[in-house]
Formats: sequence, C-alpha cells, structure tokens
Amino acid sequence: MEIIQDFLTNLRPILNLIGVVLGAYLILLWAASVLWAYRDIRSRSDDVSVQVLAVGLVLAIPFAGIPLHLMLRPRQTLSERYERSLEEEYLRRDIEEKNACPACHRPIESDFLLCPYCHTTLRRNCAACDRVVDLTWSICPYCGYDGNTIALTSTAAPYGQPEPHRHPHRHETQQFVRTE
Ligand SMILES: [Zn+2]
Ligand SMILES: [Zn+2]
Repeated sequence: MEIIQDFLTNLRPILNLIGVVLGAYLILLWAASVLWAYRDIRSRSDDVSVQVLAVGLVLAIPFAGIPLHLMLRPRQTLSERYERSLEEEYLRRDIEEKNACPACHRPIESDFLLCPYCHTTLRRNCAACDRVVDLTWSICPYCGYDGNTIALTSTAAPYGQPEPHRHPHRHETQQFVRTE
C-alpha cells in the first residue's frame, strides 16, 4: 500500500504540471480563436455591431463559439464582394455603352449624329455618300471615301476647284450630273 501511496504523491506534481500546461494551452487556443474571429469578421463586414457580436460570441462561448461564428458569418469577404460588384458593373457598362452617349451616358439610337442631351458629336455623315459613319473610322465603309482622296466620287470634285463664271451652262450641267 505504501508503494502505491508513494507513487501517487510522486505523480501529483507531474499531473499538476500537465494540468497547468494543458490549461495554458487551452487559454492560448481560446485567445487565438478570438483573434481569428476578429480578423475573419473584419474581412467580411464593415458593420461595427456585427464585428462586436461575432467577437463577443467566440469570446463568451470558448471553442463552441467558432462553429456558430462559421455558420452565422457573411458568406463573402468584403474584397470578394467588391470584386463581384466590379465585375457586374463592367458587364452592365458593356451592355449599356453600345447604346449610350460616351459623354453623358444617356440612351441614344445607333444612327444619332449628336447626343440630344449634351450635344456631343457621336457620328458624322460621310462627305461623299452622306451615310452615317463612326467618328473613329478613317474611311467610309460604304463608299471608300477617306476624307482626302476623292476616289469613287467624281461628284465632289468640282467643289475644290474655282468654277469658270463664263460658262453658266456648263455649271448647270455639272450640277445635273452631281445629283444623278
Ligand atoms: Zn450626351
Ligand atoms: Zn461614304
């Protein structure tokens, strides 16, 4: 019996030590879980009351508070939500920009020359064939007119040259040809 009692008295400090170490470890683990919950909720919510609630939950219910927090926390982090809203914004803008004024972003028709709201020049008429062409196009896709050479349009030629006033009849015939 004495041997067992000796053994137990020897064992007690060891058991105490294990208890202290284990207790300290559990306290550290709890503190770490609170810190983790604080960081986690900060990345998911800007709302201070939500942050306080989440940290309070993990603080008040050691360890068991973590699964509760995992269930209750917002699904997306703030950066995920920001990226997603950015994606949606780009998508929306892509769809809208096709038929919106680049200056005031109000709806326009595809054949408008000017924005009816802010008077921005949207497109121009081709000087040769009079069809609506984009401002960024360097050449008219309908008649090939590029602003300098009068390639396919002999009708525009007389404008640049001084008209001889001695022959009013010739002038008239040229005009007739022009309208044809
Ligand atoms: Zn506009
Ligand atoms: Zn043209």
